[in-house]
Amino acid sequence: MTEGPLDFGDPADLERLRRDFRAWLAGHPLPARRPDEPVPAFLHRWHRILHSGGWVGLDVPREYGGRGLTPLHQVAVSDELGARGAPGVPRIGYLAHALLEFGDEEQRRRLLPRMLSGDDVWCQGFSEPGAGSDLAGMSTRAERRQDGGYLVNGQKLWTSYAQYSDLCLLLARTGRTASAHTSISAFAVPLDRPGVTVRPLRAASGDAEFCELFLDDVRVEESERVGAEGDGWPLAMTTVSYERNALDTGHLSKYGLLVERLRRTAYDRRGNLPDGLLTRIGQCVVDYQVLVAHARRRTAQRLAGQAAGPDSSVDKLLMTRAEQRLYETALSVFPEELHAEGGEVFGDYLYSRAASVYGGTSQIQRNIIAKRLLGLPADDRA
Ligand SMILES: Cc1cc2nc3c(=O)[nH]c(=O)nc-3n(C[C@H](O)[C@H](O)[C@H](O)COP(=O)(O)OP(=O)(O)OC[C@H]3O[C@@H](n4cnc5c(N)ncnc54)[C@H](O)[C@@H]3O)c2cc1C
Repeated sequence: MTEGPLDFGDPADLERLRRDFRAWLAGHPLPARRPDEPVPAFLHRWHRILHSGGWVGLDVPREYGGRGLTPLHQVAVSDELGARGAPGVPRIGYLAHALLEFGDEEQRRRLLPRMLSGDDVWCQGFSEPGAGSDLAGMSTRAERRQDGGYLVNGQKLWTSYAQYSDLCLLLARTGRTASAHTSISAFAVPLDRPGVTVRPLRAASGDAEFCELFLDDVRVEESERVGAEGDGWPLAMTTVSYERNALDTGHLSKYGLLVERLRRTAYDRRGNLPDGLLTRIGQCVVDYQVLVAHARRRTAQRLAGQAAGPDSSVDKLLMTRAEQRLYETALSVFPEELHAEGGEVFGDYLYSRAASVYGGTSQIQRNIIAKRLLGLPADDRA
């Protein structure tokens, strides 16, 4: 057996799970992407195939559609996928955590199984044109209606893949108190609701990942509010903590493959590499080992029942640095990848540039570390 980077003293049942998963994968290989099939549609097809085998939501309780195992089991499955260069388990863990921690029992039973199966695709409606880093300054409002429920008005921006989504975890201001942190609430809003307009935006890469989301007098019911009124801020912080956490990436083994390719090239071409490249390859190897060590620590913390918190900002910074350095270095060592048809390294390089922005910018992560981990004075918006 090849030991994955995230194994630490595999219990026997984890090893059995890895074996079962490998056997299942042998009979369910990654399908080819159809011509003209958009990447999100292809990944959604893969999500459903993985779910049909019981490989999504392993650490989610059985009553909510999962398998009631541990985060380590889910990590092991991601690890196996990454080691084969296959797309990982869909990145829904952080939204699932928001529902697990803030949703009521009815919402958890209704929404989570459909999220895990891919019957409902979710997007995250937090950022606005004037409120990205300064999320607390959002202006989308949910006003109470006379007949119960809310009327939502406002605009969201950078909502990834909203055009392929059924539901949006949406933040809106419900209170008028001075503290923005207690006057925001969260809602699970169906995107086919009258008054919702989704407008995709084409990025420089040619992809249309982001969307603008316009909300004009959208009727949202009380039962669609996730958590109590005013719980939106802690829910958002929980969500981004899991989003930034080293465990939710599923990319680590894939990094490992490229790091290994670089390491082998460095060995084979030693003496013939341009100045400084060997050092950069060495830094990539070290970055990868640091990330693996962090992923192990986070796994151990989760197994001990510790929730993700502000220390996820450390993971996010480390992952950003590692990812950007790795793909920059890979393009210097394999310049032919720049021109490769559908070249994966080049695509990953382009996306790595966004790592210092999505899920909160690197500057914001430093503010959080300064203020919440080191106790230094920092910007209040962090
Ligand atoms: C690929 C990608 C996918 C995304 N997907 C989603 C999504 O699905 N849902 C969603 O809600 N959002 C999404 N976002 C939006 C993302 O969360 C925001 O872009 C991010 O929080 C930054 O906000 P902003 O773009 O408004 O930049 P701004 O907040 O305007 O920041 C501009 C610059 O100022 C700096 N800055 C701002 N405030 C401070 C401060 N206090 N201290 C120091 N520096 C500061 C920032 O670091 C940045 O360099 C996505 C972004 C990307 C790139």
